[in-house]
Amino acid sequence: MLHPVDPGSLSMPSGHFIGGRFVQMSGEKIQVSCPSDGRHLGTLDDAGENGVDEAAKDARNALARSSWATANPRERGRALCAFADAIEAQAERLAMIEAVGSSRLLRLTRTRDITRTAGVIRYYGEFCDKLDGSLTPAGNGVMSAVRNEPYGVVAGIVPWNFPIITAAWKFAPALAAGNAVVMKTSELTPHSLLAVAEIACQAGLPPGLLNVVNGYGATTGAALVRHPEIGMVSFTGSTKTGADIMSLAAYHGIKPVSLELGGKGPQLVCADPGDLDDIAGKVAAGFIDNAGQVCTAGSRLIVHESIADALLERIEQKCRDVHPGRTWDDATTLAPVISAGQLARISTLVNQTVAEGATVRIGGAPIPSPYGSGHFHAPTILENVGRDMTGFREEFFGPILIVDRFRDFEEGLAKTRHPVYGLSANVYTRSLPEAMRAVETIEAGMIWVNQPGRAPEFTFPAGGFRSSGFGKDMGREGLLGFTRQKAAWINYAA
Ligand code: NAD
Repeated sequence: MLHPVDPGSLSMPSGHFIGGRFVQMSGEKIQVSCPSDGRHLGTLDDAGENGVDEAAKDARNALARSSWATANPRERGRALCAFADAIEAQAERLAMIEAVGSSRLLRLTRTRDITRTAGVIRYYGEFCDKLDGSLTPAGNGVMSAVRNEPYGVVAGIVPWNFPIITAAWKFAPALAAGNAVVMKTSELTPHSLLAVAEIACQAGLPPGLLNVVNGYGATTGAALVRHPEIGMVSFTGSTKTGADIMSLAAYHGIKPVSLELGGKGPQLVCADPGDLDDIAGKVAAGFIDNAGQVCTAGSRLIVHESIADALLERIEQKCRDVHPGRTWDDATTLAPVISAGQLARISTLVNQTVAEGATVRIGGAPIPSPYGSGHFHAPTILENVGRDMTGFREEFFGPILIVDRFRDFEEGLAKTRHPVYGLSANVYTRSLPEAMRAVETIEAGMIWVNQPGRAPEFTFPAGGFRSSGFGKDMGREGLLGFTRQKAAWINYAA
């Protein structure tokens, strides 16, 4: 057990994890620092074209060496369940690495992120032998068959906001389907996934099946998408990068892609939502948790005018009550923003929106770090944000809420529609007809009614509509996404 307030005692993994071991390369150096207080966490290098080539070929060789894709699927299931057990056995170390290296609060990495990582690996481990195809009589002496086959080597590219979980949503089903995987971590938060890959091998996963390369998007990420050994790309990140990856994948082999992209989630609060104190807490958590760096953040409040003022006063109070601090301190309720660059981006978007005519109800600017270094932004509520303004169109990916009001339920529903994004929505109402109508009508891939922030079940296919992407993480759909269907007709009477 590590001391909970001594991140200095953590040993961070170093290198790329390829073929079951840490490998050093000579690419451009990447300095990794802690978003909470700026401390230096390690120096890694950019894998680039050569590093990606080594990882992809190693993954291909690992498939050829092992019987991973061809053995009874139960064998894969056993290996993945052992991997999940090993994650649980090292949960405290992983929770610390994740919290120190990212914006995730330690109490959440301990109680959610690592548990859910082990959970999703076990879920897919247990799913291995249930991924059935079909065998159908197709006439006298003829059978037709449909097989769900792995692609071979697939790539997973992930962002920095939930480094381990977003990666596990990809590598667990990819491995379960019989693929080998090359993951690219975010250059801002590389360490935790490297630690996970090492644990996989220690738990008995054949070396080379789960590889992790570090590096920048334009170099290592793009090289991975282009690499001829990579048969499919599963990506989570911004809509802009998703578009770049889709076009790269099209020009380099018409590779299938799965894209989990940005969001601008509405929180629709109807005229009779229940206890306003409770709703205010939920709405506030929807844009303040993880400093708003959540793809499903509820960054647009659309509230019935009869309760708008009363609700906003309560949400404002929640904004005042936050404690910015290090992710591993118990008192912290406002997480740091991941980097100075991301803080500057949020600030620019807020200033532009205000210059365009929006008004600041509370917040509106970065907060000086209590530690000299580290990046924090005040929870911010913006009103009078027109649909043509920057703050309406762009994803802040920070603790910013824009507010709109409505008189009539159908008007409120119409306002949930965003011209670009359709990832997620939250609805608060005590009316079952309103709840059902909202679920039917809102154009988003995930909808929560009176259940904000509820972590999805592993069976829940997570993903967006429209420019929030396509393809699903988790559930049966998440597993099928890492397979390709082969149809065969067999004339066994010939
Ligand atoms: P990003 O798009 O900048 O980067 C994501 C990953 O892609 C990183 O590893 C990056 O290095 C890599 N990358 C960048 N350019 C690339 C290129 N040209 N080719 C290949 N790889 C490239 O996103 P980010 O800032 O790391 O993360 C924040 C974004 O992620 C937000 O938009 C957020 O909404 C989104 N996100 C979506 C989900 C979801 O499930 N829909 C979950 C988490 C985050």
